[in-house]
Amino acid sequence: MNEVADAMHGFAEWYGRRPIGAWSAPGRVNLIGEHTDYNDGFVFPFAIDQRTAVALGDRDDRVIRVASSFAAEPVQVHLDELTPDALEGWAAYPLGVAWALGEHGADLEHVRGVDLYITSSVPIGAGLSSSAAIESAVALALDEHWGLNLDRPTLAKVGQLAENRVVGAPTGIMDQSASLLGEADAGVFLDCRSLDADVIPLGFAAHGLSLLVVDTRVEHAHASGGYAARRASCEAGARALGVESLRDLRLDDLPRAQALLDDETFRRVRHVVTEDQRVLDTVRTLRERGPGAIGPFLDASHVSMRDDFEISVPELDLAVETAQANGAVGARMTGGGFGGSAIALIADELVPDLTRAIRSAFAERGYRDPSLFTVHPSQGARRDA
Ligand code: ADP
Ligand code: MG
Repeated sequence: MNEVADAMHGFAEWYGRRPIGAWSAPGRVNLIGEHTDYNDGFVFPFAIDQRTAVALGDRDDRVIRVASSFAAEPVQVHLDELTPDALEGWAAYPLGVAWALGEHGADLEHVRGVDLYITSSVPIGAGLSSSAAIESAVALALDEHWGLNLDRPTLAKVGQLAENRVVGAPTGIMDQSASLLGEADAGVFLDCRSLDADVIPLGFAAHGLSLLVVDTRVEHAHASGGYAARRASCEAGARALGVESLRDLRLDDLPRAQALLDDETFRRVRHVVTEDQRVLDTVRTLRERGPGAIGPFLDASHVSMRDDFEISVPELDLAVETAQANGAVGARMTGGGFGGSAIALIADELVPDLTRAIRSAFAERGYRDPSLFTVHPSQGARRDA
């Protein structure tokens, strides 16, 4: 699919003129490091080849209009009336970004309005962060068009602020960082405290490995409540242990944590502390021994999310177990949990068999047919036209 051509074409259809440019940004898969971002820890996602594209045209007035191939109606707002509480629905993502640029130093009183048209090949709500893709594409487009010159880490914060304050989802900085900083065939190793990012070659293709995504298409109503509860447990654990965040704990702090905390809070803490270590181990192992050696960390990450953090669901566990039984190097659920997707790193030639095995295992249990596809580590946000 060519998202950019679609966006330019859609723009012309909606607005009756040609856009002056087009930008795109990818979704992401988190290879490892789950629920560590808001604990100031480490994450290691990569940008995928599914992208969201935005075509932009200028206007003489101060109105911003957005239309999307996913929405029936365009939404418009005057730049003087751009406040977080005035925005709702899907348009809160792109228009929230415009507002958040102002919060990060852009002088929105002296810019003109724009027309935007958005298309995407990132599946929505599958845990591949279509939200960060739309935010990052719009942030880069407006930054360039308005001549703001904000750097990419700042644009990541802009997307996060839009999502936190305007959409109202209390998410960390990982998704936008992956979407903006990703590079072809590489992962983004991000320290969520310092925001230092290292782009690390993954070498999947060179090693004959594919990354298969299993979108279970399960979405639990309590996902956002569950997310908030996990964040609260992490904060309570850090407070009880006298640290600013769980990032400040090491594996050898865990016995003290166990003695001090109730069982549930302790298991939440143990997930985060061991997950941070698994991210570091994954990056080190990748550098020293290549991608074929990182499987045990992916597998252990899944167990920790299933048993300690308790954010998996039976469909995700089945996808992971089936992958492991069919020759995967490693497999885990990915994303915030309570549904969404699992990933399996597996030899290219085993992908068709694994795909069949997962479909039939799901059918056997009476689960909804999952959506299966491979993703390729790809370049981050860019101007395309
Ligand atoms: P995820 O990020 O896992 O895909 P989210 O719930 O965080 O799921 O974000 C999905 C929401 O983002 C959609 O419901 C919609 O409001 C908005 N969105 C994402 N992509 C687009 C798009 N191309 N056009 C319009 N809205 C979009
Ligand atoms: Mg999202």
